[in-house]
Amino acid sequence: MSFKGILLSNQPSFSANVQTIERALLDEHAAAGNLLVKLDYSTINYKDGLALTNKSPVVRKWPMVPGIDGAGVVEESTDPAFPVGSSVILNGFGVGETHWGCLAGYARLKSEWLVPMPKQMDTKTAMAIGTAGYTAMLCVLALERAGLRPDQGEVLVTGAAGGVGSVAVSLLATRGYQVIASTGRASTADYLKQLGATDLLDRSTLATPGKPLQKERWAAVVDTVGSTTLANALAQCKYGASIAACGLAGGMDLPTTVAPFILRNVRLLGVDSVMAPLSLRQEAWQCLSESLDRTHLATMTSEISLDDCIDAGAKIIAGEVRGRLLVDLNRQ
Ligand code: NDP
Repeated sequence: MSFKGILLSNQPSFSANVQTIERALLDEHAAAGNLLVKLDYSTINYKDGLALTNKSPVVRKWPMVPGIDGAGVVEESTDPAFPVGSSVILNGFGVGETHWGCLAGYARLKSEWLVPMPKQMDTKTAMAIGTAGYTAMLCVLALERAGLRPDQGEVLVTGAAGGVGSVAVSLLATRGYQVIASTGRASTADYLKQLGATDLLDRSTLATPGKPLQKERWAAVVDTVGSTTLANALAQCKYGASIAACGLAGGMDLPTTVAPFILRNVRLLGVDSVMAPLSLRQEAWQCLSESLDRTHLATMTSEISLDDCIDAGAKIIAGEVRGRLLVDLNRQ
């Protein structure tokens, strides 16, 4: 058996190619996986862009099939919890980084990494959401666990027109929050309002270093950008506000002071999707299946084929992708 997939190699130098992959090669390089999954859909997230362009060292073993997300149907199984024919979702756990990933027709995956498909969801919807959407849900859950309620005021979403940002805007708006969408692309104004944003903020207003404490505005923040943007968001938080920090699209640094924490009781909540425990993943996917507006999801999703992925990886790193990229692995 063979299937189509993307293979990244570092010999003699970095290359990314769509090619035919033999089952024997998958068995050799993904032997740790106890399930064979026929994948229907995958996605392109920011991290996939980093792997496909080799822009930062996401890939830790070579050769590698990239793809941190996949949804499909189990074809071979040694785990009764996931019998042949069951529909599954995979996000993270180092897949596409240290273990062969999901930008291919098949993957061998460990059953302990998998989330069973929620009842009201299918493989296409799951991958339109992908890690970006699941991370947005983790951010909203973290903020609400910290006590956020819609009557507390405006919630800022940074990197709003990106994948995590778009889903965060939609989820928060549907839950009754007043969402302010920070974006560098004025052309996305109508799109972000369609997803439920109350108003927009030009991202340049958060991009230059500011005072450690500024005028209080945000009841909460979902931050996908990091760096100076996150420092300014912290400085503009209301007393007792929380920020869910999940991204670094603007940089890995955080040039801030302790002032927002010790003078305004601001809480900085780290959000990681990759190693999140299974119970939290299942809760997030269940919430997404029950509450993510499917019309919003359709608005934010563009469908591409495996052949389009290498270009799409470069585009997401350049900040040129709006919303979510869904990869149909069966599309020619
Ligand atoms: P996208 O590329 O889809 O979105 C990122 C958005 O950030 C862009 O659309 C753009 O939004 C904004 N942006 C890009 N470059 C800059 C910049 N230099 N300064 C300010 N804003 C910028 O990526 P994703 O939504 O998939 O991921 C967003 C971030 O979250 C990434 O850093 C990713 O690594 C991280 N992430 C983390 C996860 C975790 O587990 N913690 C899981 C998933 C993602 P706009 O055009 O609206 O300004």
